[in-house]
Amino acid sequence: MRYDESSPPLPESSTSISPDRPWYARRSTLVVAAAAIAPAVLAGWVLTEVLSGGARDDSRPPRIVMPLAASAAASSASAAPSASAASSASAAPTPGPGASAAPAASAAKGLAGRTVVIDPGHNTGNFKHTTEINRQVDIGTNRKECDTTGTTTNSGYMEAEFSMDVSRRLRTVLEAKGLKVVLTHEAGKERPFGPCIDERARIGNEAAADAVVSVHADGVSAGSRGFHVILPAKVKGGSADTAKIIGPSRQLGERIAGNFARTTGSAPANYLGGGTGLVVRDDLGGLNLSTRPKVFIECGNMRDAKDAAQLSSPQWRQKAAQGIADGIVGFLGG
Ligand code: ZN
Repeated sequence: MRYDESSPPLPESSTSISPDRPWYARRSTLVVAAAAIAPAVLAGWVLTEVLSGGARDDSRPPRIVMPLAASAAASSASAAPSASAASSASAAPTPGPGASAAPAASAAKGLAGRTVVIDPGHNTGNFKHTTEINRQVDIGTNRKECDTTGTTTNSGYMEAEFSMDVSRRLRTVLEAKGLKVVLTHEAGKERPFGPCIDERARIGNEAAADAVVSVHADGVSAGSRGFHVILPAKVKGGSADTAKIIGPSRQLGERIAGNFARTTGSAPANYLGGGTGLVVRDDLGGLNLSTRPKVFIECGNMRDAKDAAQLSSPQWRQKAAQGIADGIVGFLGG
């Protein structure tokens, strides 16, 4: 969606960490730094009001709540996959501590009957249906466009194609684990555009999903690289109330971030999130209206040539799907 590709750069996040160092090394530095300056940093969140840049579909700028060092320390303290990735980035094929001791057979058994909803961002037909997708829908706290076209690489590979391909690969991996998987749409096969963002949320809610992941790629300036996972902020308004999902959604997001970094070798975004690969937002209808644990993942920047080369590679997309799947499975205790 356009709004999820409009996150402006946050200077403090790119200056605090060397982009040339491996992610797990940077992560360790963050944890150490956080410990050194605790407890002040640990006490809270850093709220950053940012200008919305080219976010033409936003009536107000998105509030990005950055976890920064506090989140890095909290992640390691709560034994999230980020901690295991930092300590054994190249060694452990199993995602989180919950999964590391369990044999594969019992892990698969534990996943039986659980439901995962995968939301492929946008729809390849959206650009032919601009009137329909520009219709405003209620996201509880605000009103926004039904859906957006998404971005493309400079050579024309659409984000909507990317998100659908990764989502289908993800479905295959998860179904092989015994999970029930629901996609919010099949890219024009059954519907020419959309679904609208409120319906995308509703599909996860009505499926009583144990985890929901919306798959995207970003469209920001060249040189901005890496992935980030978007977590729901605490919001309340109209039919939006995320109080019950922010905790589990963060656990889900941390596991996905750690595993995605491991399987793809990609680094967390160098342009937001303070090097954590995690960003909290209160302006996404798909998160605000969810009653189930849910995150978005922006797998890379389609407008950066190096990221675009990865995003355009089927082999890389398989690694991306595997990382997301490992994060979901770890979150579900499989
Ligand atoms: Zn998108």
